[in-house]
Amino acid sequence: MPDVYLVIGGSGLLGRHIAKQLQDRGDNVSVLDIVQRYDDIPFYHGDISDEGVVLSVLQQCGATCIIHCASPHAKSAAPEQFWKVNVDGTKALIAASTRLGINKFVYTSSSGVVFDGSDLENIDESHPYARKPLDVYMETKVQAEKIVLAANGKDGLSTVVLRPSGIFGKVSRYSSITFCLFIHSLHSPGDRQLIAGLYATYMTGRTNIQIGNNRNLTDWTAVANVADAHVLAADRLSTPISPDAPVAGEIFFITNDEPWYF
Ligand code: NAD
Repeated sequence: MPDVYLVIGGSGLLGRHIAKQLQDRGDNVSVLDIVQRYDDIPFYHGDISDEGVVLSVLQQCGATCIIHCASPHAKSAAPEQFWKVNVDGTKALIAASTRLGINKFVYTSSSGVVFDGSDLENIDESHPYARKPLDVYMETKVQAEKIVLAANGKDGLSTVVLRPSGIFGKVSRYSSITFCLFIHSLHSPGDRQLIAGLYATYMTGRTNIQIGNNRNLTDWTAVANVADAHVLAADRLSTPISPDAPVAGEIFFITNDEPWYF
């Protein structure tokens, strides 16, 4: 039987790309979010921190695979909101998934869960969590990862955690920030974090400030590639890459194949 997908946070930048990729290849997909921005994919309105709503939506849509990429923006919410959505919401989704016998659960975390402020180069997924997470967003992402990984193998549920770093829309590399902002705004509908931050920096005239030697290594990945990773992870939860390379119960950093310098 083909999977029935529910993309949690599917009105957001990443969730929208995941839902569209699934729809474009002919899958049965719905979205659960607190905001409706599109009307071409079946939509359920609801807050994931409400256990009753979560159970009811999961029952109604008949999902067999949950892709959970809902979160408040990294810098946008009060601490209790991060705990409510990222921790309580993830708990509610896992509880409903095991109760309803859902098979697959893909969670979007962040590579920042291992970042403690010091340089990290060529690390892999065996790198420990930051002893002191940088902020409450990262602290709650760590907790959510642990909840998702602990549920792997329980009541027939297979789970996987994906860790993107910065996500950007469809844009190539340009040296001029003005041009980059212009192109980005044309090609990145739904990007409310990167473009908003860069634009605010540009509008307040702070682009003349340079930190370091302009060779600072950072990690940005195109949203289409991050979405692709989610779809692949969902597919591979039932058909592992090989018996020695399972996907269930694992964590994967999602990154570019070449470094970016700013
Ligand atoms: P986004 O804000 O565009 O999308 C998040 C979506 O979650 C929004 O549509 C929002 O309405 C929804 N949401 C928030 N609270 C909810 C709740 N209580 N119940 C249901 N839906 C809720 O963000 P994005 O950039 O698409 O990020 C997607 C995921 O990727 C997030 O989990 C984020 O932490 C993670 N991530 C993002 C980046 C980045 O650079 N954007 C980097 C690393 C990880």
